[in-house]
Amino acid sequence: MDRKYNFAAGPAMLPEDVLREAREELLSWHGSGMSIMEVSHRGPEFETVIHESQQDLKSLLNIPDNYHVLFLQGGARLQFSMIPMNILGSKKKAGYVNTGVWSKQALEEAKRYCDVTVVADSESDHYTSIPEYNTWQFADDLAYLYYVDNETVNGVEFPDIPETNQVLVSDMSSNLLSRPVDISKFGIVYACAQKNIGPAGLTIVIIRDDLLEREPLAFAPSMLRYELHVKNQSLLNTPPTFSWYMAGLVFKYLKAHGGLAAMAAINQKKSQKLYEFIDSSQFYQNPVRPRYRSRMNVVFTLTDNNLDALFLKLAEKEGLTNLKGHRIVGGMRASIYNAMPEAGVDALIDFMQHFVKHHG
Ligand code: PMP
Repeated sequence: MDRKYNFAAGPAMLPEDVLREAREELLSWHGSGMSIMEVSHRGPEFETVIHESQQDLKSLLNIPDNYHVLFLQGGARLQFSMIPMNILGSKKKAGYVNTGVWSKQALEEAKRYCDVTVVADSESDHYTSIPEYNTWQFADDLAYLYYVDNETVNGVEFPDIPETNQVLVSDMSSNLLSRPVDISKFGIVYACAQKNIGPAGLTIVIIRDDLLEREPLAFAPSMLRYELHVKNQSLLNTPPTFSWYMAGLVFKYLKAHGGLAAMAAINQKKSQKLYEFIDSSQFYQNPVRPRYRSRMNVVFTLTDNNLDALFLKLAEKEGLTNLKGHRIVGGMRASIYNAMPEAGVDALIDFMQHFVKHHG
């Protein structure tokens, strides 16, 4: 069967070995005579999935013991509300770094619950850089400081963790598991699954235990309280069992392939190749300052945007799919998460070269 190179931003490609493994055991999980989709989330089969996925994720990310790992629902977007609802505590203000479409949406949502201080903002330069840390305006009374480690739409990624004494909260939806990260620097790290982790429907939240002592806003429903999810070990209600199981397979796959250091090396190589090609060409452009370019989402435009439709059509013919940029920014976007093989990036570069030759 021919599989395409799928450059979608999410849901995105999954490792082929993981898909095969899931297919192998789809009808009978580990000889149980039942699909993992058909078993109780509280039964012994799923208990194994829960236990192993937790352990594997902890070991992949080297998560310290004073953190809880939650497997929740509601997508990344629900965290835009859950974070202020749970973490404001007695404070009234939260700080947000605005570096792209997803930070902007998160800070707008937070305004429902608190005073939002925009600590740094790159909107005026069309989200093509990240303001230097020494220009960030800190207030002392922030409940937390929120930033998006990788802006999926704008193709902007933090090269390192900002130095701060604030409680750092980070949306790592589109780059968690793509490189090692020092979790101990954070209050909360979260990510939806549908990019580097597994199928949609699952959101991973890693939260430091002292933050659970903060009182949630009085009206917060029980399903939106971290402390209840922790108490119930993410089984407050029926979780998205199949997505959770698939994420577990992805964790095992990553461990077997050298862990996050190995992923970081290959992701660096793949993205560098593509950026070098774009920079060497007169026909394609990437607007992001090199230091802040995303290793996951490579955005680019064609010099003549009248050719966009033709570019996409011909790419599709070559099995290179979902290259259209986000509707907000236009142009093209190649999302090249862990599961995109280097051969996929090579095929894209070949196609882009060929396209310039014939239509540029
Ligand atoms: N944050 C980031 C960085 C994202 O890329 C996305 C989805 N593309 C979201 C939040 C929203 O995720 P969801 O659709 O799971 O709510």
